[in-house]
Amino acid sequence: MFGAGDVRIEEVPDPSIIDPTDAILRVTRACICGSDLWPYASMEPSETGQSMGHEAIGVVDDVGAEVRNLKRGDLVVMPFASSDGTCEFCREGLPTACVHLGFFGNIGMNGAQAEALRIPYADGTLFPLNVAEDDALMPSLLTLSDVMGTGHHAAVVAKVGPGKSVAVIGDGAVGLCGVIAAKRLGAEQIIIMGRHPDRIALAKEFGATDVVSERGDEAVERVRELTGGFGAHSVLECVGLHQSTDTAIKIARPGGAVGRVGVPQDVVIPASEPAFFNNITVGGGPAPVRAYIEELLPDILDGRIEPGKVFDRIVGLDEVPDGYRAMADRESIKVMVQP
Ligand SMILES: [Zn+2]
Repeated sequence: MFGAGDVRIEEVPDPSIIDPTDAILRVTRACICGSDLWPYASMEPSETGQSMGHEAIGVVDDVGAEVRNLKRGDLVVMPFASSDGTCEFCREGLPTACVHLGFFGNIGMNGAQAEALRIPYADGTLFPLNVAEDDALMPSLLTLSDVMGTGHHAAVVAKVGPGKSVAVIGDGAVGLCGVIAAKRLGAEQIIIMGRHPDRIALAKEFGATDVVSERGDEAVERVRELTGGFGAHSVLECVGLHQSTDTAIKIARPGGAVGRVGVPQDVVIPASEPAFFNNITVGGGPAPVRAYIEELLPDILDGRIEPGKVFDRIVGLDEVPDGYRAMADRESIKVMVQP
């Protein structure tokens, strides 16, 4: 990406092992993320550009001398962040706070919308899969690299549990996966807040029980009506804008919790007073998706959840610029890239 709206496919040198803990990943599937749309809308023009993409499945092509758990030919999930797997935070289940953290396709780090890329701390970062490269579950497995783990994180932070009412703000891929996660964790009522008919239909298929398409004060009013006048126990904020975060806090019932996974586009958290006086827990951040794969993978392999349904378009590398356009125009929910 060379600036807002400016995505190009470039020939670059092949990646190579630099550190002994590196691996080289040949990408078999990647995707375009809702969070890629922020720079697509606002990036300052850049001469060097930023290699993009932070979600992938691929085959290990080469490993450094100190890589122990992976070998050439292994099929792996590449979570959106690299982590060493051994530090205090990785051991506590928060690899997105790793002391060696890196975000793929960000701040100069190589991205996965590519044929191949270098993976730092390969043992800690990559998660081996015991399936074939062309497995029919591949779209769902690919969501373990980000959107399914991120939706799950929002639900965990928002303390979703059996019998609870849940509101999900955002009908993008993460919000839709948040609906799957809420249902999976036993929520009784799941309100999807969005306004695109195709996305709402999918949300219902995933388990949403109610739809709120209003925004701002009207949305707050509607959610209260649907939840006996008090608001939702758990709110999943999957957008990141000022207004969506404000709404998230205002629709949480007293003692409730908001799980934020939308990358914030504002430097402050709004609605401080209602958050305080209603004893709302506001938490969240970059999802530790690497740590969630173990829990979510069996549900995908057994067909209990099908997050791969968020993909409604497949493109080759050459068509990636049009993939960005399609997602920005809300013509597509999520685009899969098959290099
Ligand atoms: Zn670590």
